[in-house]
Amino acid sequence: MSVSSRDLVAKKMAQLIRAGATLTSYTCPVCGTPLLRLKTGEYYCANCDRPVVIVRSDAEEKEVMIKYGLMDIRDTLYERLVMINNELKETKDIDRINELVKSMVLILEAYDKVTQIINQGSPGTSTKAEKK
Ligand SMILES: [Zn+2]
Repeated sequence: MSVSSRDLVAKKMAQLIRAGATLTSYTCPVCGTPLLRLKTGEYYCANCDRPVVIVRSDAEEKEVMIKYGLMDIRDTLYERLVMINNELKETKDIDRINELVKSMVLILEAYDKVTQIINQGSPGTSTKAEKK
C-alpha cells in the first residue's frame, strides 16, 4: 500500500464524524491520535482501530460538560448571525443597517472569544488533554 496511512486514518475519522462521532481533546495512549467519541459513548482510536477506555475524574467530566455548553452558545451565536444576515439582505434603511452591522460585530467578537475558550481546553487538569 503506497497510500499514506495518515490519510486513511483522517478519512476514517471524517467518516465517523459525519456519522455522528465527535472529536475529543483526548489522545490515544498508544499512538497519540486524537480520540473520537462514538455515538455509543465509546472512545475510539481510528489509527489503532480499537476502542480506548478513558478514566475521567468528576472535575474532567464537569469540564467536558462546560465545553459542550460553550459549543451550544457558539451555535446560538452563529444562528443569530445568519438571522442578522438575512435581515441585512432585506433592509435598505441606513439606520437599521448600522444597527445590524453593530450587532454582527459584537456577535462575531463573542463567537471568537467562545471559540478561543473552547480551543483552550481544560487548563491544569489532566496531562492527557494538554496541548502545546
Ligand atoms: Zn491509537
